[in-house]
Amino acid sequence: MSARPEGGVTPALAPQVTAPPEVTVVGSLNMDIRLTVDRIPRSGETISAAGLKRSPGGKGANQAVAAARLGRRVAMVGAVGDDDAGRAITTRLVAEGLDVASVAISEQPTGTAVILWEQPESTIVIEAGANGDVDEQFVDSRDAAVRAVADAQVVLCQCETPLGALAAVTRLATGTTILNPAPAVPVPTEIRDRFDVLVPNRFELATLAGANEAPGSLADVVAMVRGLAFPGDVVVTLGADGSVVVPRDGLPTPVPAVRVDAIDTTAAGDSFCAALADGLLRGEDLVGAARWAARVAAVTTTRDGAIESLPLADEVPAAPQ
Ligand code: ADP
Repeated sequence: MSARPEGGVTPALAPQVTAPPEVTVVGSLNMDIRLTVDRIPRSGETISAAGLKRSPGGKGANQAVAAARLGRRVAMVGAVGDDDAGRAITTRLVAEGLDVASVAISEQPTGTAVILWEQPESTIVIEAGANGDVDEQFVDSRDAAVRAVADAQVVLCQCETPLGALAAVTRLATGTTILNPAPAVPVPTEIRDRFDVLVPNRFELATLAGANEAPGSLADVVAMVRGLAFPGDVVVTLGADGSVVVPRDGLPTPVPAVRVDAIDTTAAGDSFCAALADGLLRGEDLVGAARWAARVAAVTTTRDGAIESLPLADEVPAAPQ
């Protein structure tokens, strides 16, 4: 582990946040370098990009900012490099009102995502960099991180940081724990099963299930979820087909997507996860929270970019009657 022992961001940047977080996100912080392309190049081929955009991203940052824009008090646990990208990300998180006391400065460079954007979909290559520091010991050895995880009403995690961080979260958390197992990696059952809620897309579900192909029909999705024998609740996101809530006991409930003209689906899943947490904090049940999440994620798909596309609560249109 090469992150410096405690804290990290300069004191001038880090506001004193005293109230415990409603949502704590343990996850990745990346600099996204997005190249607009009209097609994905073949192996060995060079093509020209039609545009370049650099912006803070990473599933952790996206989910944390998404929750903050919905009005939640959010703490971020993660790491950046001692470089311009790291400073830009941290400055952005602070500007969004996040508690960054547990964002450490690593000896590794800030994580980087190179995104080939072939509207509206993306093909992404990630270099984890500093995110690789965020393991079990990283969480356990920082008082601020332990408090942020233990005090939060909801803790949101993904899989762009070492899976040991997930083990620490499930050990320390007292609130609801949500795992978005993205990108698709096989999460050991003993870690996975300690979360309260799993939110995979259909490809991540197939990876968790050890299946070669993503499930097609809704019945196939539900059968694959049941095959996991996961002791908590599962919400499978299905892109423009919406999502399906599969509770630990009880019948599955499909939740339709909101019809919009999607121009960029980047961060749709991230905003869905954050809004699901927000809905649960409002006292909604999982189906109610998933309906809210569908409305929030739909807005995200109508806007360009990742963090830039995440809506404020009052920018989300009212539910159709
Ligand atoms: P991920 O980005 O993790 O693959 P999905 O693509 O399944 O996640 O999208 C997450 C959620 O975002 C969906 O369940 C849906 O509610 C919403 N969403 C995604 N794509 C669209 C779309 N084209 N139109 C409307 N809503 C969408």
